Amino acid sequence: MIIKENYEKIEERIQKACQRSGRKREEVILLAASKTQPVEKILQAYQCGIRYFGENRVQEGIEKIGVLKEYKDIHWHLIGGLQTNKVKYAVKYFEMIHSVDREDLVDELEKRASKINKVQEGLIEVNFGEESKFGVKEEDLKKLFEYILTKKHIKILGLMAIPPYFENLEDVRPFFRKLRQLKEELEKEFNLQLPHLSMGMSHDFEVAIEEGSTIVRIGTALFGERK
Ligand SMILES: *Cc1c(COP(=O)(O)O)cnc(C)c1O
Repeated sequence: MIIKENYEKIEERIQKACQRSGRKREEVILLAASKTQPVEKILQAYQCGIRYFGENRVQEGIEKIGVLKEYKDIHWHLIGGLQTNKVKYAVKYFEMIHSVDREDLVDELEKRASKINKVQEGLIEVNFGEESKFGVKEEDLKKLFEYILTKKHIKILGLMAIPPYFENLEDVRPFFRKLRQLKEELEKEFNLQLPHLSMGMSHDFEVAIEEGSTIVRIGTALFGERK
């Protein structure tokens, strides 16, 4: 079973990265990025012990959540960009949304979450260049954060980013460090704690852990290449 072998390798690498950086293994959530993967593969990952799954598209996610509804201990996260017209469904089905990045989206999240009496957990996605068309620009982050603080039905727990791809892993480190600094600046300025940094993917998760990641989003290294 290839997923199990992949999982064991990833798990070992996570543990080593934690050791290198003096962190506890429990501080880092392994989230399986399961976009395009069929439910059979998600179940194989579940059998390995993975309980966090991240989907990119609301519709695709909802279908899988429906099929797997008896697995009540799965935490479903939305990690892809969110269109305003999908918010109604996203709020109903996802525990956390990693891609909060603009005021009109915040308004819609507030409206839809309040309708179902939910406080929606989210992360603000920061845009670090071309790699993602989503995310708020660094210079607009504080304003967006302040705006969300006025909303009763959205709880921001940290930041997320997809840095550019580099062959040399040391080149990505400054981006992870930057995201952590941005989080710390918000914590200081607004006198609160933001527990999460969602950063690190298949090719760079160890560096992300060394720089403070609490959620690594891993697809290819776990499931193999996407079709
Ligand atoms: C697909 C995806 C991942 C996982 O990417 P891999 O390189 O396959 O590990 C992580 N985060 C987001 C937002 C994604 O869309």
